Amino acid sequence: MSHLMNTYARLPVAFSHGNGSWITDTKGKVYLDALSGIAVSTLGHNHPELVAAIAAQAGRLLHTSNLYRMPQQELLADKLSALAGMDEVFFCNSGCEANEAAIKLARFFGHQQGIDSPAIIVMEKAFHGRTMATLSATGNRKTQAGFEPLVSGFVRVTYNDLEAVRAIAEHNKNVVAVMIEIVQGEGGINIANVEFQRGLRQICDENGWLLICDEVQCGMGRTGTWFGFQHAGIRPDVVTLAKGLGGGVPVGACLTSGKAAGLFKPGNHGSTFGGNQLATTAALTTIEVIEKDQLIANAEAVGRAIREDLALALSGTSGIVEIRGQGLMIGIELDRPCGELVTRGLDAGLLINVTADKVVRLLPPLTFSAEEGRELVARLSVLIRDFLAA
Ligand SMILES: *Cc1c(COP(=O)(O)O)cnc(C)c1O
Repeated sequence: MSHLMNTYARLPVAFSHGNGSWITDTKGKVYLDALSGIAVSTLGHNHPELVAAIAAQAGRLLHTSNLYRMPQQELLADKLSALAGMDEVFFCNSGCEANEAAIKLARFFGHQQGIDSPAIIVMEKAFHGRTMATLSATGNRKTQAGFEPLVSGFVRVTYNDLEAVRAIAEHNKNVVAVMIEIVQGEGGINIANVEFQRGLRQICDENGWLLICDEVQCGMGRTGTWFGFQHAGIRPDVVTLAKGLGGGVPVGACLTSGKAAGLFKPGNHGSTFGGNQLATTAALTTIEVIEKDQLIANAEAVGRAIREDLALALSGTSGIVEIRGQGLMIGIELDRPCGELVTRGLDAGLLINVTADKVVRLLPPLTFSAEEGRELVARLSVLIRDFLAA
C-alpha cells in the first residue's frame, strides 16, 4: 500500500515522458493532452527552449532567497507589469499563495482606511485555493465541509449579478474589495460577461474598493488574450497568477497597481522560495516563447475552431446543455454528471477533465495545433455521443 496521503482519487495511469501535446504512459501508450496538467504546461511537454533555459539556470544557481536581489525576478516583474498594465509584483509559488497575498493586501488596505473588520465580496462557484483563507473565499460548500471555522470577512454574491454587488455596497461599509475569476475554471468554465466586469470596475471606483482578478487559471494567454480581463478592457487593482506562469515549474505572482501598489513594506509579507532563480527563469522563458511563437493568437484561433467543430460534431445530440469558453479554456456542459468520461478518455488516448460534475473541461497547451484540435474534436465527440446514448 502507498504511504501517500489519500487526498486524490488518482487515475490508474502514470506518465514517463511527453513531447508537445502528446504524452506517453509507463506502458508506452500515447495520449493527446487536452488538459496540460490543469492549465500548467502551456508550452506543451518537453519544450526545447524551456528545457534548455531551466537546465542552464540549474547549472548556475537554483536559489538564493529574497534576502538578496535577483535580476531574473526584477526582469519578470517588469515584463508582467508591462503585459498586465500593473505596477508591482510579489512572487510566491502557487495560486493559493498568490490569492493569500491579495487577501492580506486587501485587508491591509482596509485597515489603513480605518476599517477594522474588512470584508471582500466573492462569487458563487468561485475557486481560489485550499489554504484556510482561500478555501473560505471559495464558493463550494463541499470543499469547505469539515474545516470550519472558516476565515471570516467574505461576502458572497451570484456570478454576473451586478445588482447584488450594488445592494451590498449600500449596506455593508466594511467591504474593501471584490475578488473574481474572469473565467471560472473549477466552477465549470463560467464567463463573467463584459457588462459585469465593467460594472464591477465602476462600483469599485465609486466605493474605493480594490478589484482583484484571480487569473490563476485563465491568465497567461489561456483565453486568447494575456489576461482574461483584457477582453473587457478593464484594469484591475490586483491580479493573481500561477498555473501557466512557469510552464510547469511552480511559481505564482500577485500584481498590484494604483491604490493597491506601494502598500506592503518589508516585513508585511514574504516567501522563502517565492520567485527564486529557477522559477523566474522558467517564467521568463515561457513568456518569451509565447510571444515569439504568437501562442496567444494561436490559442484564440485554435480554441475558436475547437468550439465550432465540437458544436457541429455534437449538433442534434440530446444531453448537451452548452459549449462555451474563450481561447483554449473550454467547457462542454452536459445535462448529467459525467465524471466517467475521464476514464473513457484515457481508454481513447485522450486527457480531459470533468469539473462541477457535469462540465467537460478542456485546457490544452497554448501550442496546440489546428490539426491537434481536429483530432481532439474527433476523439471527444465520439466519447460524448456514446456516453449520452448509453
Ligand atoms: C488552481 C487555482 C487556484 C489555486 O492554485 P494552487 O496553485 O493549486 O494553489 C486558485 N485560483 C484559481 C482560479 C485556480 O484555478
